[in-house]
Amino acid sequence: MKRPGIDRLSSIEPVAAFLEPSHSELAKQVGSFCKHELLNETEPQSDKEARTVARKWLKLVGGKGVLSPLALEDLRGFCLTREAIASYSPLVDAVVAIQALVATSLQLAGSKKQQALWLDGIVTGQIMAAFAMTEPEAGSDVAAISTTATKDTNGWVLNGQKHLISNAGIADLYLVFAATSLKAGSRGLSAFLVPSNTQGLVYTGTQIAAAGHPLGQISLDDCSVPSDALLGSLNGGFKLGMMTLDRLRPSVGAAACGMASRALVESLQHVTSRRQFGEPLERFQLIREKIGRMSTLLEAARLLVYRAAWCHDQGKRITLESAMAKSFSTEAAQSIIDEGLQIAGGLGVVVGHPLERLYRAVRALRIYEGTTEIQRLIVAGELLGSQPLGNRDKQS
Ligand SMILES: Cc1cc2nc3c(=O)[nH]c(=O)nc-3n(C[C@H](O)[C@H](O)[C@H](O)COP(=O)(O)OP(=O)(O)OC[C@H]3O[C@@H](n4cnc5c(N)ncnc54)[C@H](O)[C@@H]3O)c2cc1C
Repeated sequence: MKRPGIDRLSSIEPVAAFLEPSHSELAKQVGSFCKHELLNETEPQSDKEARTVARKWLKLVGGKGVLSPLALEDLRGFCLTREAIASYSPLVDAVVAIQALVATSLQLAGSKKQQALWLDGIVTGQIMAAFAMTEPEAGSDVAAISTTATKDTNGWVLNGQKHLISNAGIADLYLVFAATSLKAGSRGLSAFLVPSNTQGLVYTGTQIAAAGHPLGQISLDDCSVPSDALLGSLNGGFKLGMMTLDRLRPSVGAAACGMASRALVESLQHVTSRRQFGEPLERFQLIREKIGRMSTLLEAARLLVYRAAWCHDQGKRITLESAMAKSFSTEAAQSIIDEGLQIAGGLGVVVGHPLERLYRAVRALRIYEGTTEIQRLIVAGELLGSQPLGNRDKQS
């Protein structure tokens, strides 16, 4: 029997109103890359293996030009790319996501010299990047960062700790957020480009994530960088960090949609082949209700994601659209994948089942680049006017 709904899930037709004709060619190219390179990708069995293969994947995606929408600052193209990749491999998607954070900060604030030095290498996969914002005592509350950068005659000296940093220990370049004006909160943070071989930058250990994703801690111990390591303006680091996250949150939503659409495809296949009580599961109305809810949530999420990306590509500020897209689509994806796993029954929790991997992988998307709760506060702040959170004024 023909199942037109399955094709719709990987089609750009439901979001075409937000796309340009060139995006359909891009979607074909990235779809073909995924089919050829990622179809047989399997989850690394250890953190060590995840670290090794992450670098391998970066070389491949960079070398094949998959990150070109990033270089072109085409957010819709980048969302299409992440959506397709995440439906095949959450690990490869994570690799792409981190490159984007540092590339975007460089595009927003880098001098010509800084861009010439780093940007091309990041988007071609020659340079692995890390975005070092979070600290043990500064998560959602970014303004509480206590890593310091002190001016000396040669430049800046950085001291502090960062944790939950993707690519920690394997990156070539860290974008480090530090306080340059103590007690000034969000108005006293600056961003620094720190190569991994800088003396005083020490990888202090791994933090093993539930789904293969290289994550860890670094320490900055009297780490000296030259004056031109400062990215953007002095004390402009908080604004730069927030602008970077605003721009990229729709792409986190796109990755969530990719994982959710994969879950839905798996579910549709399962309900047609699995029989219980003498019938295929698809004959049961309670199962059909789940499929109806899952697919509606997915389309709503995709519409919010591509609307936010479209607004960005029109040159608009997207704080509101971006926060709505990220919070809605990551929550929706979690719910879709959970429902998909339920439909798969016991096999859904067996290690190696695609839904089991997706179930673990999607969880982090509701947290990184700003939690769901913080996104909803941002939305409310855009509607009501922002309000201090505790004794701080904003968040990641
Ligand atoms: C897989 C993964 C990769 C990551 N990669 C990076 C990276 O590369 N670079 C980087 O800098 N960071 C990274 N992070 C860190 C991530 O950005 C933080 O985990 C996130 O910002 C939340 O901070 P936290 O974990 O300290 O939680 P907390 O800020 O302690 O929050 C705990 C809970 O309290 C809620 N909460 C906090 N404040 C409020 C409030 N005002 N109102 C209501 N609820 C509130 C939060 O929503 C959350 O549910 C990563 C995290 C993960 C899981």
